Amino acid sequence: MAGPGDRGVAGLLSALAEAPDFDSAASFFLTQLAEIAGAQRACLLQFDVAHEYLELVASVGFENPPMSIMISAGDLSNPLVIGALTMRPLRGTAPLPHRTLGDVVPWIALPLTQPRQRGTPELMSPVRGAELLGASSITFLETPERPLGAAPAGVVLMQADESTNEKIAESVELVTLASPVLARLVALEDARETAERLTQQRDRLTLMVDSLPDPVVIMNAANDIIAQNSRAGRLLHARDDDSPGRRRALELNNLLFTSFLSKAAMTGGAQSGPRELNLVDPDEGNDLLFEVLAHPLGERVGPENSVLSVLRDVTDLRRAANELERQVQRVRQGEVTVRGERDRLNLILENVADPILVTDERSNIILMNDQAEQLFQISEPETRNRRELASVRGNDTKFTSFISEFAINDDDSRRERMSLVNPRTGIELPMEVVSGKVKNERGEPIAIVSVLHDLTKQVENERLYEALKQLNSELEQRIRDATADLAEQNARLQWQSQEVERANRLKSEFLASMSHELRTPINALIGYSALLLDGVLGDVNPRQRDALARGRAAAEHLLALINDILDLAKIEAGKMPLHLEAVSLREVTMEVTQQIEPMVRKKQLEFVIDVSPDSPVIHSDRTKIKQVLLNLLSNAVKFTNRGRVSVEAHEAQGGVRIDVVDTGIGIRQSDLQAIWEDFRQVDQSRTREFGGTGLGLSITRKLLERLGGSVTVQSVYGEGSTFSVYLPLMVPTTIGNELTTVEVGS
Ligand code: ADP
Repeated sequence: MAGPGDRGVAGLLSALAEAPDFDSAASFFLTQLAEIAGAQRACLLQFDVAHEYLELVASVGFENPPMSIMISAGDLSNPLVIGALTMRPLRGTAPLPHRTLGDVVPWIALPLTQPRQRGTPELMSPVRGAELLGASSITFLETPERPLGAAPAGVVLMQADESTNEKIAESVELVTLASPVLARLVALEDARETAERLTQQRDRLTLMVDSLPDPVVIMNAANDIIAQNSRAGRLLHARDDDSPGRRRALELNNLLFTSFLSKAAMTGGAQSGPRELNLVDPDEGNDLLFEVLAHPLGERVGPENSVLSVLRDVTDLRRAANELERQVQRVRQGEVTVRGERDRLNLILENVADPILVTDERSNIILMNDQAEQLFQISEPETRNRRELASVRGNDTKFTSFISEFAINDDDSRRERMSLVNPRTGIELPMEVVSGKVKNERGEPIAIVSVLHDLTKQVENERLYEALKQLNSELEQRIRDATADLAEQNARLQWQSQEVERANRLKSEFLASMSHELRTPINALIGYSALLLDGVLGDVNPRQRDALARGRAAAEHLLALINDILDLAKIEAGKMPLHLEAVSLREVTMEVTQQIEPMVRKKQLEFVIDVSPDSPVIHSDRTKIKQVLLNLLSNAVKFTNRGRVSVEAHEAQGGVRIDVVDTGIGIRQSDLQAIWEDFRQVDQSRTREFGGTGLGLSITRKLLERLGGSVTVQSVYGEGSTFSVYLPLMVPTTIGNELTTVEVGS
């Protein structure tokens, strides 16, 4: 055989075998082949894995090297496919039916082979190939014997302008020799790829298993661990750098796990035995609970009788289950408590006189007592009427809007007045609503409790209070007006009293100064009547005498009256001076009784004077004492028709008391006050009988006041009277000084 020589072929083949990968080997081989064949262009096409296409693997000599060429393996019109499948070299002069390869003319196609295996392409018989090619410009070339058991692997296409038959034959031989080497390279490449893929898959699976939170362990029949994921490793596998504590925990875990497995084996295999396994967490030290799921592994994936155990960590699950159970218990207990509370609450609600309502967080009424029902619930259909419906609806609207507003507010409680209507009676009810929020432990409001308080009485009280206040202020005003009137009247009265006083003083002054002018004519009248009666001016007959006597008596009465009035006036005008001296009571009394004596004798009365000679001497006004005693004694005699009249003197505290006692007509109890007034004669009919002016006692009292003394009376009507005079031993200086400074003109 002519050619590059055996050594050249051997070198080429060994270079091929040492190529780092199939692609560089294919390029190298194609370059060498083109050189040997004297071809300007060449390319190598190989069946892909699925044998559906002939794929371009390497090319040489093309100006623009084709990037990819794919020829369908089923395209039996393509001579390259037929050449590859029949494994016969072909030679052609007509262009190939392919866009890129069309200008490779004339051409040679040399088939590549590989050892026949499962899945290599089917060989096509040369007869069938020739049939398909037909009577074209393509011819089969002579080929050396091919090894048995070869299968189509691809085809090398070369442009063969300058190829001699010899060169072609050499090329064919080279391809035949190199084909198995190339095929091995392909197989090697495939194997490497497969190995890479498997490694990748294994890594992925390991990652997957390791990332499982549950420990996964594969054990052999002797309960030795063959494989485990990292979680299982952390629980069961000790490392050199582990702490003693961790080591102890791991030992304990191994012990527990082994005992679990042997127990499982005794009780009928991993699948039917106990499922729960307690281990210790070597890191945290706390107890872990696992549920063991065991899967016996078939022979295909492990040693005989090996078992895959998945330890499902159910610690949390169990804890949760326990917690759940506890919760359920608690809820049940809570329910019982709540039921009790609710019963109690209902009891309270039903026994409270005020309406109470409970609303939920959406302002729906969820609970109310009977009192509230009467306001917010319509009664039985047979008794209800339109007014009732309207009232209930109105109440509900008012209450709900209040509650809704309160519910969205932040306040915890609220108090508001609200006017509701009693649906049965139609009477308006002033109410006070007090609402409070019921909150859960998170502070969220879950209900609102409202108590309604009937304010009817309070409102009525307020109304009454207002009326009272109004009345009071009116009254106050009236009192203010009256007070103003009174003040005015008072002022007027004061003015009037001043006026009266002034007038009185003027009167008294007038009278005091008029005494002389009044007394002189009366004395003249008395004097001249005396002369006439005595017959100094000639005889008077009995009738004239009688008239003259009456005239004189009238004049004397007038004089007495004038004297009394003048005395009174003098006293009132403050024009009665005191002449103070040592006064013997006995002397004074004796002088007065002498004046009275004739009257007593005339009336045939018993007359007693009981004034001892050593009765005290007092410092006073003698004339005025005489006048006092004269007044009292003449009254006693005047008003006594039988019996006796007496004068008695006694010592008294700081002075003397003189009692003038008579058994006369007496004075009615009701008249005892009146007798002291000016011109007052209490019994008109009787005084006419006794005469008098009604001024005596008034003058007596005023005189005694001036002397610092006093006079009182005791009397039994029809039996007699006692007038008691008190005189001090000494006239008090204030009175004395005041009065002695005044001098009287008359
Ligand atoms: P009169 O000049 O009328 O006596 P008086 O002032 O001395 O005026 O007395 C006033 C009245 O008191 C008398 O009118 C008389 O009614 C009554 N009266 C005074 N003294 C006696 C007495 N001793 N007994 C009864 N009545 C008396």
